[in-house]
Amino acid sequence: MARKLKNYIGGEWVDAQTETYLPVENPATCDVLAEVPESSAADVDKAVQAASEAFEEWRSTPILTRAQYMFRFKSLLEENFDDIARMIVEENGKTIDEARGELRRGIESVDFATSVPVLMRNDGVEDIASGIDETTLRQPVGVFAAITPFNFPVMVPLWFLPTAIACGNTYIVKPSPQTPVSMEMVMELIDELDLPEGVVNMVHGGVDAAQAILKHPGIQGISFVGSTPVAKIIYETGTAHGKRVQAQGGAKNYIAVMPDANMEASARNIMGAAYGCAGQRCLAAAVALGVGDAYERMRDILAEQAARLKVGYGLDESTQMGTVISAAAKARINSMIERAIEQGAELLLDGRNIQVQGYENGIFIGPTILTNVTPEMEIAQEEVFGPVLALMQVQDLDEAIGVINSSRYGNAASIFTSNGGHARTFKYRVRAGNIGINIGVAAPSASFPFGGQKQSFFGDLHGQGHDSIEFFTDRKVVIERWL
Ligand code: NAD
Repeated sequence: MARKLKNYIGGEWVDAQTETYLPVENPATCDVLAEVPESSAADVDKAVQAASEAFEEWRSTPILTRAQYMFRFKSLLEENFDDIARMIVEENGKTIDEARGELRRGIESVDFATSVPVLMRNDGVEDIASGIDETTLRQPVGVFAAITPFNFPVMVPLWFLPTAIACGNTYIVKPSPQTPVSMEMVMELIDELDLPEGVVNMVHGGVDAAQAILKHPGIQGISFVGSTPVAKIIYETGTAHGKRVQAQGGAKNYIAVMPDANMEASARNIMGAAYGCAGQRCLAAAVALGVGDAYERMRDILAEQAARLKVGYGLDESTQMGTVISAAAKARINSMIERAIEQGAELLLDGRNIQVQGYENGIFIGPTILTNVTPEMEIAQEEVFGPVLALMQVQDLDEAIGVINSSRYGNAASIFTSNGGHARTFKYRVRAGNIGINIGVAAPSASFPFGGQKQSFFGDLHGQGHDSIEFFTDRKVVIERWL
């Protein structure tokens, strides 16, 4: 029988108050790694109580001490780097290199949080009026929570948790029920930090636990990362219950390839952007727009390179692309490919029937390329979240920008060019929150806010960077006169 996961509440591992457990499967082998509880509102309430009780002691813990916990947390993550990366592969299906990259990015967010004594500093002026000084203080707010997706099971919680607690708040994480085990390993390290009980808590589960978080009056703010329909629900429900919410949603990321681009280098980069993590990245390249005669050259190189990608089990170091997350995801992706063909796209490379020797039960889809895609097709508009790249030909940069800006999403967009004028026009006019110039995956580092516009983001303060300090604190103005 598979191990039943526990929640981490008030510094202890506790059983969830539920009879319902779901299997967590390795998508390459279909082995059951663990069983995850569908925690209830009562479990969430217990975590909120623990986090609320911890808040006063934690907020008055000196900020330098809070920062020191982050240094220790970082070194524990480094010491356990390989084990956590392996677990990310086992439960998510990505390659070991991608898992290492994910964890490295997560650790960068811990690095960022070590700077909290500088980041929380504020300013003031003497003699704003005669004998009166005015200053601002930045203070923690209370209990925050994160509701996170399957595709970056460790990095996404780490986008938020370290900064939130370093600012003096207390925290609850609800990982994706599809990939909860690697975050359990991280929580074991947090347990070793000997933080005051209740500063960090983890409640497993799905919709019920998330809904209880959204509605709980003891939670002040919510960070969400996931699909757009759920991001919208989270934003609407959370704000209706008086919380500050930052909700990062889904994406449809376009890449424009200009005739003056270095085609070999660009194609290599686009390959990584389209097929990295089997396309299950919110920054995945989904549609490549070949401008003018760049289209044929781009198509031919991509087809040749994509056909050579080695698909397999992520723990095999030579694997270049792993699985998709579940049989349901595979069925959804395949049906989107079929509808694209019905709508007039041509299948240049078909990954639907791929077999991986030794992993016959694995949930694999090979690299897939659709050509002759046009803007009105579903495949050009809706998120696939799988290893499917759509190719579209446009006449010029103006048309490329028009296609990109007509999308309801605005997560990321990239241009490949050797012309600075094209690059400037692109970054000036494209309505997307993360812009890549000769970069396929425009992933902001931890000290920059993770952009996102239109239906890719709901809220105003983004995750990461200085926005996160604003999100996790309140400013108070102090006006003082001493007679
Ligand atoms: P998802 O929206 O299905 O689930 C995300 C989280 O929401 C999970 O914890 C899930 O349990 C919870 N949830 C699901 N339905 C809910 C509901 N009705 N009410 C409350 N909570 C609910 O997303 P996923 O499939 O895990 O992740 C993939 C999606 O995440 C993609 O759309 C991808 O683009 C997006 N994503 C976005 C970013 C970004 O930064 N914008 C980053 C990573 C992933």
